[in-house]
Amino acid sequence: MNKIFLRYHRFFVFLLLTRVSLTASLPHTHNGHVDSDTARILNQEHGDVHRIHCSRERSRIAWKIIQEYLTPVVEKEKYNISRTCRLHPENDIYRDQEHHKSHIDIYEWQCGYCKKTFYEEKHLDQHFDNRHSNLLNLNESQCLADVCGALHCDHDINSGSKKSKCNPAAAARNKHLCETLADSCFPVNTGPAASRLHEFFLHQFCDAHSCAGSGKPFSRGRRKKKNGFYIAASVFLVTLLLFYYLYIYLYRRGLKRETQMLKRISQAGRKKKPS
Ligand SMILES: [Zn+2]
Repeated sequence: MNKIFLRYHRFFVFLLLTRVSLTASLPHTHNGHVDSDTARILNQEHGDVHRIHCSRERSRIAWKIIQEYLTPVVEKEKYNISRTCRLHPENDIYRDQEHHKSHIDIYEWQCGYCKKTFYEEKHLDQHFDNRHSNLLNLNESQCLADVCGALHCDHDINSGSKKSKCNPAAAARNKHLCETLADSCFPVNTGPAASRLHEFFLHQFCDAHSCAGSGKPFSRGRRKKKNGFYIAASVFLVTLLLFYYLYIYLYRRGLKRETQMLKRISQAGRKKKPS
């Protein structure tokens, strides 16, 4: 009886081990494409705890690039990106957490779920990982950092620093991923807006994936920063300057009048003296 139990136990452990090794060795695929090595999600089940292998920082950079270099044009075209497009906000597992992030002051970051505050953003990120990772929708959402190669995240990180050597294989891989994004997010057969956006996307992101050095990423420009603050500050400064000069003018005018009056008084006094 003990032997039978031992055999079953061994068989069960064997099954468990093969399952774990299989899930660990399988590459994360989407639409037939193997995702980048830098960021991926693996749902390794340790009881109920999900371990996430998706770079939050790179996901954030990818999101920033989408917002600056793509969203303005998509909004202008009044085009709705479908859920199947990997650039859709709901395909970013960190979107909800990032949405619950408040930058109250320079050294004050607040968690929107529990209102706890932190000195630095990285501590709030850690807090999200430790306390609110259960809120991440791991079943449906994907890792936005996985499309970083196509969106030139490294260009955004290294902007200003020396350009690294171009790798033709990596450039070709990124170009392919980029074109796949263009096809899935803006299918040309769905209308003129999608067709225009498809072409825009290729020029904006995909053309620069080449070692020939011909095109630069984001060649079609970016969202113009809202400079309301600068305008208000300039108006305030100009008004302040105007008041300053007005004050000086009035002050000098007042002084001039006073001296003229003093002169008159003294002249009148001199004229009176001889009598
Ligand atoms: Zn919290």
